[in-house]
Amino acid sequence: MDLGILGKRALVCASSKGLGRGCAEALAQAGVSLVLNARGAEALEKTAAELSAAHGVSVTAVAADITTAEGRAKVLAAAGDVDILVTNAGGPPPGMWSDWDRDDFIRALDGNMLTPIALMQAVLPGMIARKWGRVVNITSGSVKAPIAQLGLSNSARAGLTGFVAGTARQVAGHGVTINNLLPGIHDTDRAIALDGGVVKAQGITMEEARAQRAATIPAGRYGTAAEFGAACAFLCSQHAGFIVGQNILLDGGAINSTL
Ligand code: NAP
Repeated sequence: MDLGILGKRALVCASSKGLGRGCAEALAQAGVSLVLNARGAEALEKTAAELSAAHGVSVTAVAADITTAEGRAKVLAAAGDVDILVTNAGGPPPGMWSDWDRDDFIRALDGNMLTPIALMQAVLPGMIARKWGRVVNITSGSVKAPIAQLGLSNSARAGLTGFVAGTARQVAGHGVTINNLLPGIHDTDRAIALDGGVVKAQGITMEEARAQRAATIPAGRYGTAAEFGAACAFLCSQHAGFIVGQNILLDGGAINSTL
């Protein structure tokens, strides 16, 4: 399918690896030029070179922590006018409800709620002025069904979801859509880190931990970054202009609900 976004320009945050990279790759396949970001320069430069070589689009790499004001300023200055924004950052650490103090919550809110909000506030005026824009926020299945040990993520992402619900309706009339993609378990470094926790806690092997988690997914496997990226690119396409303020779950059926 022709996504109709050839020649558009996208900022994809936290995109040297994992789901962010999957989104960047699918957009590059559709002929979108990219501004990529991550903290570590080495993996970021490698990803930028690979995507540019594979898809023949211009790719700018900006090494910065997107959860800091300085990092965002650096990334936004390099990005300039963008048609597409994909927000993403690392997820907060797991733990128990009793583990976290105010500073932990502020860090989680900064990373997974206030950072995407600040990025949207920075790019929405330009999108509105140009009468076209697409924003996709990478959140989590934890927005629909809590993951008990990820209380910081549950809390921060719920706040972002509330902001998007209202804001998406305020900008839709200007040709700008905002939607959230909610990953379930995907095969990325983040999943490996979480599986590592299970290995330690239960004294089992990595293979056993993976098989155990895969068995909780009706699809019987982890999702891939490529599948996730394809869904993101569709939401960024010309065809998705009537999809507004939605929370779309990509979890292989793991969350057992009718709606
Ligand atoms: P990942 O494989 O660990 O990749 C994370 C990417 O983000 C890397 O490129 C990393 O590069 C970059 N990054 C992390 N923190 C950053 C920061 N502060 N500033 C800029 N770049 C940053 O993670 P993932 O699995 O793709 O997960 C992406 C998001 O989806 C996370 O918020 C995660 O919690 C959420 N999620 C994932 C899953 C899953 O199963 N994978 C499920 C639900 C939710 P650097 O480290 O070099 O910065």
